Amino acid sequence: MNILDGKVVRKSILDNVKEELKDIDKTLGLAVISVGDDEASKVYIRQKEKMAKELGYNFSQYKFDSDIEENEIIRLIDKLNINDSVDGILVQMPLPKHVDSNTIQNRIDFNKDVDGLTDLNAGRLIHNKDCLVPCTPLGIVEILKYYDINIDGANVVVVGRSHLVGKPVSNLLTNYNATVTICHSHTKNLADYTKNADILIAAVGKPNFITRDMVKDNAVIIDVGINRIDNKLCGDVDYDGVKDKVKYITPVPGGVGQMTVAMLGYNVKKAHILRKKK
Ligand code: NAP
Repeated sequence: MNILDGKVVRKSILDNVKEELKDIDKTLGLAVISVGDDEASKVYIRQKEKMAKELGYNFSQYKFDSDIEENEIIRLIDKLNINDSVDGILVQMPLPKHVDSNTIQNRIDFNKDVDGLTDLNAGRLIHNKDCLVPCTPLGIVEILKYYDINIDGANVVVVGRSHLVGKPVSNLLTNYNATVTICHSHTKNLADYTKNADILIAAVGKPNFITRDMVKDNAVIIDVGINRIDNKLCGDVDYDGVKDKVKYITPVPGGVGQMTVAMLGYNVKKAHILRKKK
């Protein structure tokens, strides 16, 4: 078993972005909108701010109280959309129940949508057009590429079909010529699919859900899950159970999670380039 080290790939991505930023004669800007006081969101926003500083981006956070009207958020997005100093906009999830996250997300100019979650970018990804792709799926592909893992023609099984991970990673890998099967909570006999996967991607959100009997010998395992048991982080894959059966595996922590914020840094630069092309 070989570990797919997210920290190493993250460094390589950030180094490349820094290099490419030398050709851009402007300080890029990332705007993050947050609503309420969610503790996990605060941690994620701090990580994004740290990455932005490392890449020399202007980072601005717009904080709203949890009882804010949806219209107020929309007004801010409209302003940020036309502000030339802002290259990327993201809305930190979750939003309070009275705010429709789909409406908010789709208000963002698709060329500033650095989370890649607007319907326009999701559609462009399906059609294999140049677009902003959600950060975690992008990070998964970068890990596979960095370790020279063949995607073209590979049997990929993705467990999970979320808007954030499962669907976009399936579409992205299809564009890379993988044969992709998507499984979800209604899939019958899940192991029949997972056992055939050359590359198995688990994005379920259930600790140790993928067990030894569900993986093929020498498979590549990408564990997206971030779960907590007794305050300790673990993935969706029973790491200790599968590790001596598989060829490669991403650890949790230290795997895919390392990549998500790095790819946000990449997407801000890409958003700038896409907007300038317009
Ligand atoms: P999500 O929106 O809750 O989606 C979970 C998916 O798992 C759903 O499609 C669901 O199927 C499927 N599922 C649930 N139970 C299942 C079962 N018994 N058999 C097969 N499929 C099942 O979660 P998400 O946002 O995609 O996130 C998944 C995990 O990744 C979470 O642990 C999250 O914290 C983590 N995550 C990590 C990163 C990172 O940077 N590492 C980024 C994003 C998310 P249905 O559609 O049928 O309900």
